[in-house]
Amino acid sequence: MKKIQMVDLIGQYQGIKDEVNESINQILDSAAFINGPKVHEFQAALEAYLGVKHVIPCANGTDALQIAMMGLGLKPGDEVITADFTFAATVEVIGLLQLTPVLVDVDPYTFNIDPIAIEKAITPKTKAIVPVHLFGQCADMDAIMEIAEKHNLYVIEDNAQAIGADHQFRDGSKKKAGNIGHVGATSFFPSKNLGCYGDGGAIFTNDDDLAHIIRGIVNHGMYERYHHDVIGVNSRLDSIQAAVLNAKLPHLDTYCSQRREAARKYSRAFAGQEHIVVPKTVRGCEGICDTCDCHVFHQYTLRITNGKRDKVAEHLKQKGIPFGIYYPIPLHRQKAYEDTRYNEADFPVTNLLVTEVISLPMHTELDDEQISFITSAIIEAVNG
Ligand SMILES: *Cc1c(COP(=O)(O)O)cnc(C)c1O
Repeated sequence: MKKIQMVDLIGQYQGIKDEVNESINQILDSAAFINGPKVHEFQAALEAYLGVKHVIPCANGTDALQIAMMGLGLKPGDEVITADFTFAATVEVIGLLQLTPVLVDVDPYTFNIDPIAIEKAITPKTKAIVPVHLFGQCADMDAIMEIAEKHNLYVIEDNAQAIGADHQFRDGSKKKAGNIGHVGATSFFPSKNLGCYGDGGAIFTNDDDLAHIIRGIVNHGMYERYHHDVIGVNSRLDSIQAAVLNAKLPHLDTYCSQRREAARKYSRAFAGQEHIVVPKTVRGCEGICDTCDCHVFHQYTLRITNGKRDKVAEHLKQKGIPFGIYYPIPLHRQKAYEDTRYNEADFPVTNLLVTEVISLPMHTELDDEQISFITSAIIEAVNG
């Protein structure tokens, strides 16, 4: 059996080596390292893929979130509601801009922000909601857009983990993740579903005015050369990263299907296991339906409900199977984000999830033998 990787970037590269090398070599030959034609080519290709009017590339996903919030003109003291169960980048930029983060609880089956908790947290100071499309599927965007409209709030989608996912609305219509709220932000960190070979990110919007503002912010607040109208940042996607992304974007749908296929095999193997909860899609299909494209499985995350999560982790370690605990500590209990307004009783789900979750190897190169080795090891440890 091939050695199991958590993320197999080397194997993936082997399959697209010629395209990627050719694309990078064009940059080396032209020396157009910053703002070269490859960046514009990628921007246009991603706009077409997502069906969004404007893609503004930037240096990483954290910047993308920060710039989106700057572009919307959020001011110190404005409250921004986001999920307690996510990667810290989301709440970090809210704090950096001196906005007030308001963390709320999540859904135990999809792991995404709970719309009921959002609505409870709204005050007259609330200006925006940042749903994180955690592990590869959209938060409940029907409910979130309704709440936003009712209370006149911006919606900034943190789409770092769900690029390529479709969101199916209640009326059956579909949109790509990141293209639903007022603005979307994503990351091209190497291990993300569409990853480059360094850092990269992008902001999406259908709003022409906002796109214009954001294009200036990423470039030192310049709208005309050497005229600085607002305080901006320096945040660029470099041409070599754009070249890699250009070569990989045409494969994204295939990569997502391969991940879904691996997820289906995992979920089938765990069917009937009393103490293992497999990830559910918004449609409730437990990740094994063959038709929906709503989950792109950035992570395949189980809940071990009989208190043996750490025992399972130890067993996997012994067998040489990589795994991840995403995330081990709720954000409201992180030193940097503690706030006396938080009440432990407001976070029952996140507080439980951090003790139960375990993410399994997930990438485009997993084979059946590896999957059955992984699933048997987990079933053995859970029931042992
Ligand atoms: C990766 C990630 C980010 C940050 O992206 P970087 O490119 O690493 O800055 C933000 N939010 C979430 C949910 C992420 O997973």
